Amino acid sequence: MKLRLLLVLLLALALKPCLAAVPADWTTPVPPFKISGNLYYVGSRDLASYLIVTPSGNILINANLESSPALIRASVEQLGFHWADTKILLSSQAHYDHAAGAAQILKETHAQHLVMDGDVDVIRSGGATDFDPSLPHFAPTRVDRILHDNEAVTLGGTTIIAHKTAGHTKGCTTWTMQTKDAGRTLNVVIVGGWGANPGVRFVPVQGKPASYPTIAADFDHAFATLAALPVDIFLGAHGLYFDLLPKLARLPAEGPAVWIDPQGYHRALTEHEATYRKELALQQSGKITP
Ligand SMILES: [Zn+2]
Repeated sequence: MKLRLLLVLLLALALKPCLAAVPADWTTPVPPFKISGNLYYVGSRDLASYLIVTPSGNILINANLESSPALIRASVEQLGFHWADTKILLSSQAHYDHAAGAAQILKETHAQHLVMDGDVDVIRSGGATDFDPSLPHFAPTRVDRILHDNEAVTLGGTTIIAHKTAGHTKGCTTWTMQTKDAGRTLNVVIVGGWGANPGVRFVPVQGKPASYPTIAADFDHAFATLAALPVDIFLGAHGLYFDLLPKLARLPAEGPAVWIDPQGYHRALTEHEATYRKELALQQSGKITP
């Protein structure tokens, strides 16, 4: 009987590939923690969310999956902060795993939603206008202010800079700020994205156009921008970008210095750029069909 039930469940899963489960690390919480100064981690084991606390209210970076707002809210409150103090919502990229929870968070907190120019259409259409048609859609979401490359977002004495590092999405955004800890000023980089999903074309390939006309130029600009950023604290939209879990394991013994990792940042950046250049060369050679 149990085996029969299992077979029925497996068949049901096989018939619904588009409802395939998301990775467990996307929805499994980690205890929220202070990273540095007024910057806190309030995400899951892999989908990063960041809270920046100021005397005039708080800034939240990344709403994540449609199911994530409850986890993020619980993390914010566990740290002793108020959900209703969330005044500004920002995003790393307009994909469902970073932005699908935005509509719910805006409804609950009445925060202002600030989005990089290239991502505005995709956010407003709930993913329907994404250049990659393979990705899940989400609730269409309002945008209150459109950001541009190098624009500053300021609240309560804290300034965050929006660097357009497009390519992964048309408005993929890397956020930078400075924190102060024990009299030291630290440069924080939150990488928005530095690779392409499978099937994305950087150039025309075998009669099919590039995924969008300026994608290769955007990746060039993104890698040049990321290489030039001053970095002490290395963070990103996914925990995997910056080895969140291994660093969390080291945290009890080594303390918050584990987040200071300029070498890890430059090593990861070099690897991601090499992966991109290799894939670009393959596509330009015409030898593969992505
Ligand atoms: Zn993405």
